[in-house]
Amino acid sequence: MDIKIIASGSSGNATLISDSKTSLLLDAGLAIKELQEGTDFRLSNVSDCLITHDHGDHSKAVKDLVKRGLDVYASKGTLDKLSANGHRYHALTALEDLTIGTFKVMPFDVLHDAAEPLGFLVESTVTGEKLIYFSDTAYVKYTFQGLTHIIAECNHGEQELRQSVMSGVINPELAKRIAKNHMSLERLIDFFKANDLSRLKEVYLVHLSDNNSNEHRFKQAIQRVTGTEVYVH
Ligand SMILES: [Zn+2]
Ligand SMILES: [Zn+2]
Repeated sequence: MDIKIIASGSSGNATLISDSKTSLLLDAGLAIKELQEGTDFRLSNVSDCLITHDHGDHSKAVKDLVKRGLDVYASKGTLDKLSANGHRYHALTALEDLTIGTFKVMPFDVLHDAAEPLGFLVESTVTGEKLIYFSDTAYVKYTFQGLTHIIAECNHGEQELRQSVMSGVINPELAKRIAKNHMSLERLIDFFKANDLSRLKEVYLVHLSDNNSNEHRFKQAIQRVTGTEVYVH
């Protein structure tokens, strides 16, 4: 599985994955121009895009992608929020799988302040690899077998969030909202402990908060619990 994190964080999220036969865009929260640059101007090789939720940092380019002939998959709640309709938009239902090229995709529900947000389990029928992608969620209530690649939000650490409140960088209300809607390092560690990591090859940490994270500490902590290569974006 080839993975390219094009952008990550509250200013925009997009990831390109490929199993050599099918290329898929996961989230499109950038201007179309940035997406073209981020895919080395190979956006025409990408036929489909999965969107986790309607927030602009994940969905900004959706309409431009459709104009360029890509098909967009998201929950009905997300499509409604984006006022997206037409034959290139496809509504997903959590836990109902579908096939896109050589990928088998299983959407699953996550916890975030958006309409029907989703995460995605993506399995390649070419390589047998199994990737999970989730961003913007307080936690993941499901467990998975045989994951080989994990792209996960690791937004904040409990101690970093506390520190930001104490030093007045953010107010306590905002801190509460962040904790309720985004993945903490501590809850992500619990996720890894609950899942089968025997086939795991790579972990990508995404959507780190500017104010409430610590790249070095997060990387070390996740490396310790997974025993694999961890990339931070
Ligand atoms: Zn986001
Ligand atoms: Zn969001």
